[in-house]
Amino acid sequence: MKKLSLSLLCLMVAIPMVAQKKLKVVSTASMIYDMTINISGDLVDNEMIVPIGGDPHKYEPKPSDALLISEADQVFMNGLTFEGWILKLIKNSGSSAVVDTVTAGIDPISHSKYADAYDPHAWMDVSLSIKYIDNIRDALIRLDPKNKEAYTNNHKAYKEKLLELDSYIINRVKEIPEENRVIITTHDAFAYYGRRYGIRLEALMGISTETDATSQDMVRVSKAIEQYNVPALFVESTINPKIVEQIAKDNNIAIGGELYTDSIGGPETEGNSYYNMMKHNTDTIVEALKGDKFSKTKFQSQSEKSNLPIYAVVGVCLLLLLIPIVMRLNK
Ligand SMILES: [Zn+2]
Repeated sequence: MKKLSLSLLCLMVAIPMVAQKKLKVVSTASMIYDMTINISGDLVDNEMIVPIGGDPHKYEPKPSDALLISEADQVFMNGLTFEGWILKLIKNSGSSAVVDTVTAGIDPISHSKYADAYDPHAWMDVSLSIKYIDNIRDALIRLDPKNKEAYTNNHKAYKEKLLELDSYIINRVKEIPEENRVIITTHDAFAYYGRRYGIRLEALMGISTETDATSQDMVRVSKAIEQYNVPALFVESTINPKIVEQIAKDNNIAIGGELYTDSIGGPETEGNSYYNMMKHNTDTIVEALKGDKFSKTKFQSQSEKSNLPIYAVVGVCLLLLLIPIVMRLNK
């Protein structure tokens, strides 16, 4: 009898422990992580490998990443060579997680330099992100069928939001005069955005950030600035802005703002979710390219900008000193 009650007690303690353990879903990049949260809510434990602000193209996995993957039930990756390090990491971690490529089923853009290779930045076209979230919903239902209804409902609401965002971008881009629809930025992350929303692109580097820009790249970009009369260049949140700032200075044009491409922004930024990053990018691009915002204000580095208020104060003080002198002279 004693033995039975002890077993019963163990069972009573064990059942809630099993029930409380959530399934662990690990996403490689922050955009995929954020999309997954929108569909899973808090029904699973969501983690990401490359931290916000990190560059997934040249990320070097840490031992803690192998541990994270080894504990995962599900891994979501972008594929199309975005995270060249992921399959080796999964293999080395000994993980038995289900691995899904969230770009499965999209129409990828071919790599401009290599045959049989594709541009990974498909999330930059919001209409394609619907395929991402379809794949995430289906994988979550396969993994955790008892919560099918919640995943289906969350997916439906999020899909509506993303379709609205897609229309928002289409309409905002129309505000830019057609001849000014050119994005010049650090790496070639806007091909899908350009294809969907009708914007030409020039980038310093290729579709990966693994190789640096050459002097030929700088000459090519400078020519494009002249040819299209480009009013502003853009820097990216995950890449050092130095070269773009140098080109802006050399060509005496403005920096139109910071764009989020390979990572969402931090919690305090305007790009702190996939939805917000795409909205911020579009608003920044449209405001910089649509009119005369930068036609008179040419390139200013961050340090020159920060000196402006000091110059203004000194100027006003000088004026105040001069007025009594001039008035006395007039007498
Ligand atoms: Zn990229």
